[in-house]
Amino acid sequence: MADTKRDYYEVLGLQKGASEEEIKKAYRQMAKKYHPDLNPGDKAAEEKFKEVGEAYEVLSDSEKRARYDQFGHAGVDPNFGAGPGGAYSGDFGDLGDIFSAFFGGFGGGRATPNAPRRGADIRQSVMLSFEEAAKGCHKEVSYKRVESCSECGGSGAKPGTSPKSCPDCGGTGYVRVNQRTPFGVIQSQHACERCRGTGKIIEQKCSKCSGLGKVRVTSSKTVEFPAGIDEGMQVRVSGAGDQGSNGGGSGDLFVEIGIRPHPIFEREGFDVHINQPITYGQAVFGTEIDVPTLDGNVKVKIPAGTQPGDINRMQGKGIQRLNSRAKGDQYVHFTVAVPKEITPEQRELILQLEQSFGTDVSKLSKKKKGKLF
Ligand SMILES: [Zn+2]
Ligand SMILES: [Zn+2]
Repeated sequence: MADTKRDYYEVLGLQKGASEEEIKKAYRQMAKKYHPDLNPGDKAAEEKFKEVGEAYEVLSDSEKRARYDQFGHAGVDPNFGAGPGGAYSGDFGDLGDIFSAFFGGFGGGRATPNAPRRGADIRQSVMLSFEEAAKGCHKEVSYKRVESCSECGGSGAKPGTSPKSCPDCGGTGYVRVNQRTPFGVIQSQHACERCRGTGKIIEQKCSKCSGLGKVRVTSSKTVEFPAGIDEGMQVRVSGAGDQGSNGGGSGDLFVEIGIRPHPIFEREGFDVHINQPITYGQAVFGTEIDVPTLDGNVKVKIPAGTQPGDINRMQGKGIQRLNSRAKGDQYVHFTVAVPKEITPEQRELILQLEQSFGTDVSKLSKKKKGKLF
C-alpha cells in the first residue's frame, strides 16, 4: 500500500523545501477544489480531497514532516507508528524506551526498583477538521502505550515458570559494600547488579516481552473534543498513558490538537471570517444574498453603495466558545467580483457605463470579447 502512495509534496503541487505558508496556501486551494460539498457525488474528487488532507496532516506538522523527509511514507505510516491519527513520538519499537519505562531511574541511589512507579505520560497529536473543532466531536485516537505483558502477567518469566529470588542479594535487590577510606571503613549500599535491583532472577524469559514484563502495544481511546477547541490545545485523558510498575498508577494521555484549514472559513479565536464576492450591480443597488455559515446558508442584506472591503458582522454566527453557550461572530468581507470573460454586448454596455462616468474609454484595452486575461 505504501508503494502506491503519491509523494505528499507532489499531491500539494509543491517543492520539497516549501515554506509553512506555501503548504497552508496550497492545501486551502486544493481542499477548495476537491471539497465534497463543492463536488457532490464525485468519487475521484473525494479521493483527492482525502489525499490532500493526508498530505497536509503530515507536512503541516514539523516533526512528522521531518520524518517524512527522511524516511518517506514509512516514517509517517500509521502501521509503523501509533496508528491512525499519526504517531507523535516517531517510535520504531525501541526496546530502550520499555527499559526506561520498567527500570526508569534505577541506579544513582534512587528508590528501589520494586517501589511503585507511575507510568509515563504520552503525547499524541490528532488532526481535526475545521467543523469537528468548531462543533465538537468524539474521535477514536490510536497510540502506542506500555502495558503489562498479557503472556506472563507482567512477571517477565516464561508462562509456567516464575522468577527466582536473586542469590547475590538474597532477594533484597541491594548489596552492602564496605569501603576503606582515610576516615575509616564506610559501608554503602548499592543496587544488586545481577538482578538490576529487582531481587529477582528470571531463568526462562517470557518470549513475548523478552523478560521485561512490559510490552508496547497499540491502544485506542474514544476522546471527546469539546466545541470550540482550537489548534495547539490539548485534551488530557487521565490514566490512559503508560502503565505503571509495581502497583504504581498509569500516566496520562495528552492529545494535542491540530486543525486543517477550511477552504472557505477562516478562524480567529471564536470568530469566523469569510470572503464574499458580490457583483458590481449588487454592490451599487444593494440586495439580499445567501452567505454560507457553519450552520448552513443565512440571508444577509447588502446595503446600496457597498464598497469592496466593507464588512458585515453576523452576530452569533461564529464558533461556540469553550465551556460556554455563547458564540463568536462571523465577519463577511465583501469583494466585488470582476468578470474575466465578457460578451461583445457586455463590452458595449460597460463602455457606455464608463463613458457616462467620464472615463477616457479610448485608453481602455481594445479586446472585443472572450478571455480578458
Ligand atoms: Zn511477558
Ligand atoms: Zn540481586
